[in-house]
Amino acid sequence: MKVVVAPGDGIGPEVIAPAVDVLKIFHPEWDYKQVHLGYECWKRTGDPLSPATRTTLKEADLILFGAITTPPDPEYHSVVLTIRKELDLYANLRPVVGKNFDILIVRENTEGLYSGIEWQEKDRACTLRLVTESGSRRIARFASSCARRRRRHLTIGNKANIMKSDAFFLQICLEEAEKAGVSVDKKYIDALVLDVLQHPDRYDVIVTTNIFGDILSDAAAFLEGGLGMLPSANIGKGHALFEPVHGSAPDIAGKGVANPIAAIRCISLLLKYVQERDQAKLVEAAIQKVMAAGVKTPDIGGKAGTKEVAEEVIKEIIRMRSVLQVDL
Ligand code: ATP
Repeated sequence: MKVVVAPGDGIGPEVIAPAVDVLKIFHPEWDYKQVHLGYECWKRTGDPLSPATRTTLKEADLILFGAITTPPDPEYHSVVLTIRKELDLYANLRPVVGKNFDILIVRENTEGLYSGIEWQEKDRACTLRLVTESGSRRIARFASSCARRRRRHLTIGNKANIMKSDAFFLQICLEEAEKAGVSVDKKYIDALVLDVLQHPDRYDVIVTTNIFGDILSDAAAFLEGGLGMLPSANIGKGHALFEPVHGSAPDIAGKGVANPIAAIRCISLLLKYVQERDQAKLVEAAIQKVMAAGVKTPDIGGKAGTKEVAEEVIKEIIRMRSVLQVDL
């Protein structure tokens, strides 16, 4: 497997380093390559994403991505959006897991209100919300097949009562869910955000369009104790990119207090993606153990630094693995 590591800016390198250490426990034999991209790279070289880096990313089977600072400069194009487009990473997955709930948010990642079709005139600006049949069908199929492997239930977040583009999306999702044999319910996105926060246990897989998924998953971060805890995956045909939900957090960069759990949980998602489900569970179990022992960074009420949390998680993974191996 070719793994490309892109630590990026701010706390990106601080949290990605321990995540790579975790992955190497399971797969020291994989081919690891590091690339430089992002704002710091732009300041240094004038290019946030060089042609050579693009090629390396395209050749990767798995990409581990840190975070990137996006400056408010109209000349600077978002690296993350460019990569999503170039690799056609159409499904954005965000698991939200707690004591009595286990939700998977599946967000369409390439079109909708983030299609990039927009213009400004003298007295108005327009952003087009493009929803295509092929774009909707592939995400609907993806979400339905996730639901089939889980609790066989799909919730479709939409605003079909107001927008034709959403009525279209909803219809396609209903068709794909029926083909997959999973039960569905449709919910207006505003009511859905509130209900997910109040009754997370009622949900399994939720599928929705780009901007609604963006908002829903950030709101759902509340259920898990904040940004420092949440991993995400961006999946396309033949490519997969894993990144923490949080950004580069320049305010705490270099202070050694960034929470590495979101980045380490990206490894759990990556292991699931390559069908190593038991290993993925082991990473989650080790994290739970360390959190329960109170070894936490300040953002979630602890006193430990990035290194200490990461070291404890790594120790726990190695311990749990050796127990498993003895059991076998
Ligand atoms: P960017 O411009 O890259 O999006 P940002 O600071 O605007 O950066 P985030 O990086 O998502 O946005 O962070 C928002 C706040 O949440 C930060 O100010 C930081 O204090 C906190 N935060 C985010 N990630 C972490 C983390 N891993 N550990 C601790 N605190 C974090």
